[in-house]
Amino acid sequence: MKRFSTLLSPTRKARTPLDSDYPLLSLVDSCKSMAHIKQAQAHLIITGLILHSFPASKLIIKLFALPIPSSLSYAHQLFDQIPSPNLFLYNTLIKAYEPTAHSSHNSLLLFRSMLRNSSPCPNRYTFVFVFHSCNYGLGISEGEQVRVQAVKRGLDTNVFVANVLIRMYANQGFVDDARKVFDWSLERDLFSWNSMIGGYVRAADLGQARELFDEMPERDVVSWSTIIAGYVQVGFFMEAMELFCKMQLAGIVPNEFTLASVLAACASLVALDQGRWIHVYIEKARINMNERLLASLIDMYAKCGDIDLAFRVFCDENNPKRTVWPWNAMISGLAMHGRSKEAINLFERMKIVNVAPDRITFVALLNACSHGRLVDEGRLYFKLMRSIHGIEPGLEHYGCMGDLLGRAGLLKEAEEMITSMPMAPDTVIWGALLGACRIHGDMEMGRRVGKFIRDSEPNHVGCHVLLANMYSESRRFNDAKDLRDRIEIAGVKKTPGCSSIELGGTFHQFLVGDRSHPQTKLIYSFLDEMAIKLKIAGYVPETREVMLDLDEEEKETALLRHSERLAIAFGLINTAPGTLIRIVKNLRVCGDCHQVTKFISKVYSREIIVRDRMRFHHFKDGLCSCKDYW
Ligand code: ZN
Ligand code: ZN
Repeated sequence: MKRFSTLLSPTRKARTPLDSDYPLLSLVDSCKSMAHIKQAQAHLIITGLILHSFPASKLIIKLFALPIPSSLSYAHQLFDQIPSPNLFLYNTLIKAYEPTAHSSHNSLLLFRSMLRNSSPCPNRYTFVFVFHSCNYGLGISEGEQVRVQAVKRGLDTNVFVANVLIRMYANQGFVDDARKVFDWSLERDLFSWNSMIGGYVRAADLGQARELFDEMPERDVVSWSTIIAGYVQVGFFMEAMELFCKMQLAGIVPNEFTLASVLAACASLVALDQGRWIHVYIEKARINMNERLLASLIDMYAKCGDIDLAFRVFCDENNPKRTVWPWNAMISGLAMHGRSKEAINLFERMKIVNVAPDRITFVALLNACSHGRLVDEGRLYFKLMRSIHGIEPGLEHYGCMGDLLGRAGLLKEAEEMITSMPMAPDTVIWGALLGACRIHGDMEMGRRVGKFIRDSEPNHVGCHVLLANMYSESRRFNDAKDLRDRIEIAGVKKTPGCSSIELGGTFHQFLVGDRSHPQTKLIYSFLDEMAIKLKIAGYVPETREVMLDLDEEEKETALLRHSERLAIAFGLINTAPGTLIRIVKNLRVCGDCHQVTKFISKVYSREIIVRDRMRFHHFKDGLCSCKDYW
């Protein structure tokens, strides 16, 4: 207070309130708390200076500069007391509301008040700020109303305004409207191109995204990261990897977003060598290891079959673990590898260090229980998720529970849970139960479940095939054939089994019965030779996996052509004795291929890691890590 009275000493009265060194104004500059602001405001009121926009603006701007939680609403109150706020003040306040989604309607109210007489005319900054609010808090209809005003003033084609409009439309799923703005804008910069490409990526229209990307006059790390992420998102992993190579050739340094996408591609392709290379790159180039990137790295190692390395990366004390992402990646990884108890332990540790679990954590945890046949634990966590953690179970959690109960043979309990779910079960849940019916040989429930699936999704070929398999296993070949005919008449094709293996940085893909690979002859003669060796070792083909009414010999040949066997044979031919073989398969591995791989691991003294749609199988010395429960 002493300082304030000195500043207000009458000797300094000569300056006018519009001088920036006017004592009261420098007083505003020295404010450091809300109490100071209020004192300064009191002086402005007493002296009548509050009615001048310059000193009042200074106070408002000072308010924004201070880390005070309620400063925005206080600033707005001050703003309302100014008789004719200038454009700068309007823009400052509108911008201040922009990042607060819950109060972004205030930006629109301020904008509308600007349109009234005697208010300053909005300029391009005003439009940029208001469109931002429409993007993050308001909706597209508010955005369109504001756009009319921009068009009236000829500001909609200004590059800054157009850019934020493109982003607004693209973010809210109106990619065609975004494109119109993009096409009409007089000037485009990197931001315009990147936003437009981002819009197409979000709409999963990779064709258009790529076309624009190729047309771009120049590309930065955002352009490359966006298009790479797009390819990963739609499952075009090879293309994503190719683009990553091109990006490096173009001399663009990747950032943590690019690398997270590329790691996701490596994980899906089981490209461990490339994944490792990226890990080294992150360390050497000192890339900011944020929690998303860490999660991608853990996920990559886990999905490439190296769960121990994933765990080492997770445990590294230099890596951040304050958010749920790395924990989710690690718990999912352990679940996938059948290390259920460790997944549960990690979940318990996560609670001790105060990281709150989310929906994904529970999917991972329930999956861990399911893969480890931990029925009681699964039931308990399913209950606790709502009662302790306040997370309402969704379809995905019910799916895990159905799978857990069904696989453990508790078919009745699984069916009861599915029929009493608060939401309609989908074909994935019914399909899992149908699979369980098959494993546990419950034909009656299988038929009932099959009917549910047929009623809800008549073209769901996977479930029909499963049911047809069940018919042929119980030697009801006519029923099986009927169902198969129906599948053919409906014109839907079963997803073909596809396995891939990486060799020296190149991916080799094999479809079921594939004969397109350059080494086909060698592979098939190797398989014939292998069949003899395995028979001597005691392997008996489990022909129930073959659906048709073939004779036994033909069934054996059909099994021989399953995609993972072609990939394993290719791996055995082309790698040195003792080399670990990694295969990834798009479908679940069948019982017979599982059995045969166990034999191969023993007869050929090879470790073989197969990642199927559900989990990992680590074959070694004639045994599998899943202990035949999958
Ligand atoms: Zn198979
Ligand atoms: Zn297994």
